[in-house]
Amino acid sequence: MEQTITLKIKLYQPTQAKKQMYQEMADRTTEFANNYLKLDKKDRPKTSKEAKEYSKPLPSAVLAQAIRDIKSKKKVKRFKRLWPNFNNQNFKVEKEVSKDGGAVWKASFPTLERRVGVPIVAQSYQEKYLNLLLSGEVKQGSARLIRCGKDWYIHLSIVLTVEQTKRTEKNMGIDLGLIDLLVASVNGQTLFFSGGELAYIRRHYAELRRKLQKAGAHKALVKLGDKEHRWVTDINHKISHAVIEFAKLHGVTKIRLEDLTGVRWTKSQRKGQRKDRGRSLHSWAYYQLWQFIEYKAALAGIQVELVNPDLTSLTCSRCGHVHKSRPKGRWFTCKRCKKIKHIDVNGADNIAQAISGLAG
Ligand SMILES: [Zn+2]
Repeated sequence: MEQTITLKIKLYQPTQAKKQMYQEMADRTTEFANNYLKLDKKDRPKTSKEAKEYSKPLPSAVLAQAIRDIKSKKKVKRFKRLWPNFNNQNFKVEKEVSKDGGAVWKASFPTLERRVGVPIVAQSYQEKYLNLLLSGEVKQGSARLIRCGKDWYIHLSIVLTVEQTKRTEKNMGIDLGLIDLLVASVNGQTLFFSGGELAYIRRHYAELRRKLQKAGAHKALVKLGDKEHRWVTDINHKISHAVIEFAKLHGVTKIRLEDLTGVRWTKSQRKGQRKDRGRSLHSWAYYQLWQFIEYKAALAGIQVELVNPDLTSLTCSRCGHVHKSRPKGRWFTCKRCKKIKHIDVNGADNIAQAISGLAG
């Protein structure tokens, strides 16, 4: 069985000139895509050579890949944005080992000027994959150059071949909870992780931060941020590890998670908005946990499927009745069948059943 995961790798401090060039590449790629769509089907370019006629100068590799991307998105009538994409022939990851034994990661790809080799920020879990990539143990898929806010990223697809013995299908749903940090549910068996400790620690850090801010201690603030980051990352590793062990114990073949791409993990998001769902621990901490579960499941040979989060917290997992508003507090009481369930268990059960359909 093959499974694809996507590593979101940040480019390390690109210069202003590089950023402008990446943006120009992205703009030209988008413009080409829309020019392409305006053409009659029979006139549409099939090769990068033909494509040059309908595009400002772009590397052939980017044009060729753009054609593939456009064709794969049949429903799109106009592209708001098509990011430059490189296939595995044109995008390379390189590793340089420094004298002190540390690794410096670089990505090289064609640009408007020439091929560049630029440093990237590989997080430790990403390094594991990049090493597998260099040793040829996993296959490289496409690599997309994407801007997110002011930062530039490479979204690198990695294809894993996972050995799979024949098992009966068993789904586990994971809800990143309203009350608890995480609830995993499979066939009525439930695993809880309370967010209590994490919330406490983050409050503690917030308070320290306020004090340091008052004192104008900038360096100490940065240090504190690093410490908190390491602490949360450590916790997330432990939780995701336990979740996968739990799944293996129950013979789970597929983990279903809510699709959280598109969710903006910011504090400014108002309560009650569709995807906010009143989570107390917004931000990257949640997103990181979600990513860890995704990649650890992949390594364990468990399929991951993303589901649409829309009705997860409103639907009764027993009778399917959809409620108008989210119940307050810890318990979900169904107005129709009167079933009472812990709100996050109800959510996890709905995710396991993919009641709002699959994402995508
Ligand atoms: Zn019900």
